Amino acid sequence: MKKLFGVIGDPIAHSMSPLMHNDLFQLYQLDAHYFPFHVKKENLADAIKGLKVLGVSGFNVTVPHKVDIIPLLDEIDPLAKAIGAVNTVVNVDGKLIGYNTDGNGYVRALTNYVHHIEDKRMLMIGAGGAARGLFFSLASAGVKRLDVANRTVEKADALIEECPYEVKANSLSLKDAELALAEYDCVIQTTSIGMAPKTDELPINLERLKAGAFVSDIIYNPLETRLLTEAKERKASIQNGLDMFVYQGALAFELWTGIFPDTERMRKTVEMQLGGKTC
Ligand code: NAP
Repeated sequence: MKKLFGVIGDPIAHSMSPLMHNDLFQLYQLDAHYFPFHVKKENLADAIKGLKVLGVSGFNVTVPHKVDIIPLLDEIDPLAKAIGAVNTVVNVDGKLIGYNTDGNGYVRALTNYVHHIEDKRMLMIGAGGAARGLFFSLASAGVKRLDVANRTVEKADALIEECPYEVKANSLSLKDAELALAEYDCVIQTTSIGMAPKTDELPINLERLKAGAFVSDIIYNPLETRLLTEAKERKASIQNGLDMFVYQGALAFELWTGIFPDTERMRKTVEMQLGGKTC
């Protein structure tokens, strides 16, 4: 019988996960299909019960359900528990188990570009939901210095304090981060600033960016944010959010099927859909 997979979220029509995963099911000749499910907040509990009864093999979870789904699942993987958010669910013999592949997806994507991440001095901009996954995964990957700059500094403090992995980290205001920019080898942008339609916005000024720095932005719409364009003009190496999206999907696919898929192909599938060139 065909296996059922999907993604739940609100909105969901824009999701590129169905395209990416259905292409992989075809590639690896798996009798499975991945559907987008539009689930509103008030229907989340019913939707999870329904998916369970229908015998779903696995699904992704996107905005706004990543936190609220936790008490509705049977088990939560320790990293997802620490992060406090789930983006992937696996059905193991009728038990729904929650994972978070966002943070580890980001780390996998980053290490394609930056070697010896543990030795790099990193600055993360933002302390929202996505930042939490990245921070915990980078700390668990052994990054020794990882400062966090956020508009609301208290949120950066809380994020650092709640991290279960050892890491040297300070919180900063966005202004202080601009002044200290020359200290960092890697700058990781995790806020929603610069995302379409407000593509002319910039979270921080890059005037003091270190020569040869690496600048990564987890936004992939647009594929090149203003921050990345300005970083490129300053001769920095850059990475957009498409890699993180691809690798979080690849790790989810591996959890469901045991196959670590062709990430280059996944990237091209999404790129074609987005209709642009990536950096
Ligand atoms: P979130 O939890 O709402 O966090 C938003 C972050 O942006 C917070 O740090 C917030 O600061 C900051 N922010 C928002 N508006 C701001 C403004 N006007 N000035 C200064 N700071 C501002 O959102 P999220 O789920 O972490 O998502 C953040 C971004 O990551 C989105 O663009 C999303 O598309 C992207 N993302 C990409 C992937 C991927 O696979 N590539 C995955 C997940 C998310 P405060 O704390 O001060 O409010």
